[in-house]
Amino acid sequence: MKDFTPPLLQLIEELKKIPGIGRKTAQRISFYLLRTEKANALALAQAIIAARENTSHCTVCYNITVASPCEICRDEARDHRQLCVVEEPFNIYSFEKTGLFNGLYHVLLGNLSPIRGIGPDELKIAALENRVAAGGFQEIILATSPTTEGSATAHYLTEILNKYKIKITRIALGLPVGADLDYADQVTIAKAFEGRIEVK
Ligand code: ZN
Repeated sequence: MKDFTPPLLQLIEELKKIPGIGRKTAQRISFYLLRTEKANALALAQAIIAARENTSHCTVCYNITVASPCEICRDEARDHRQLCVVEEPFNIYSFEKTGLFNGLYHVLLGNLSPIRGIGPDELKIAALENRVAAGGFQEIILATSPTTEGSATAHYLTEILNKYKIKITRIALGLPVGADLDYADQVTIAKAFEGRIEVK
């Protein structure tokens, strides 16, 4: 049986590396890109290049940004006494949409996962501790997902931040146990946020 011609095969292989895209979807996208007008396919390629080349992680909070520190970290109108700890940069946008939070963020860039070999050193935990140790925060809100890994991460952070004598809260209420924050809707996130409980 003949396989796809090499350039097409390479495109399929690259698409398959994206989380959530299996072989069939990768093939469908590849055939679409070869069938659509050339300008559409090139616009996608250019968008990927531009997004990669023009953005980086904020050196303070690890949000995705064009200029560092990011707009949120630079915004004096925000409450610099509240710090919300999230897993991924896109979680920030979910929280921003609820309009309930006007503090600062810290992105861990993942969760602790012994099974996948992700320990504290693989996440932005030392950077978080440095920010907290520098002072000025009155509340740290742990907004990792209520999954096993998210909860273990929140527990670990509670332990290491305990010595700073700052209020630490955990969002949880309103989110079904095991639910991933990526898929939670705005109302659910708002409820989880408003119903946050003090963990120490
Ligand atoms: Zn930032």
